[in-house]
Amino acid sequence: MPSDSVCLWWIGEAAAEDRVMEEARVQVERVFGVSATLARRAERPSGTLDPRRGQHLSAGILRWLVAMRPPGATKLLGVTDVDLFIPILTFVFGEAKLDGVVAVVSTARLSGDAGGGSPRVSQARLVKECIHELGHTFGLIHCADPRCAMARSVNLAHVDAKRATLCADCRIRLSELRHGGGDAYGR
Ligand SMILES: [Zn+2]
Ligand SMILES: [Zn+2]
Repeated sequence: MPSDSVCLWWIGEAAAEDRVMEEARVQVERVFGVSATLARRAERPSGTLDPRRGQHLSAGILRWLVAMRPPGATKLLGVTDVDLFIPILTFVFGEAKLDGVVAVVSTARLSGDAGGGSPRVSQARLVKECIHELGHTFGLIHCADPRCAMARSVNLAHVDAKRATLCADCRIRLSELRHGGGDAYGR
């Protein structure tokens, strides 16, 4: 079985916060047991802005990321500061392809004051959403445990209720998905 290697890449408009990205990288390695690297490239997605909404279509960013995946990386996670949407929702914290190779997470909605609004809180939220979206790329679906990183989040209170880790059930599922037997849960 080939081992997974995750690449995290800041594709936002403002300058990257290296410390935040490094923390996300370390936590991704810890949670998924993979090697993770940070990409530092100047390319940015284009054509994803919906001028009427002032938001970027997350599916468009995912399509762009697929084409940009570096050789050697089995998963590519884009982290951006632009606000993301899918057509049926006001916004999304991120989006991923289930069982896919790409995911995107936005910091745009993570700095609200629900949890005090400190940079530390925003960083913790970003780590959780990175784990959540990457979890989807590994085939994990939403989890009913509100403390699990795979719980669905539609607001910051939900994000703050989560921990930056997978619950025991999701850890078992992840192991089965990565080592075979992934259809046992009939998703
Ligand atoms: Zn999700
Ligand atoms: Zn779970």
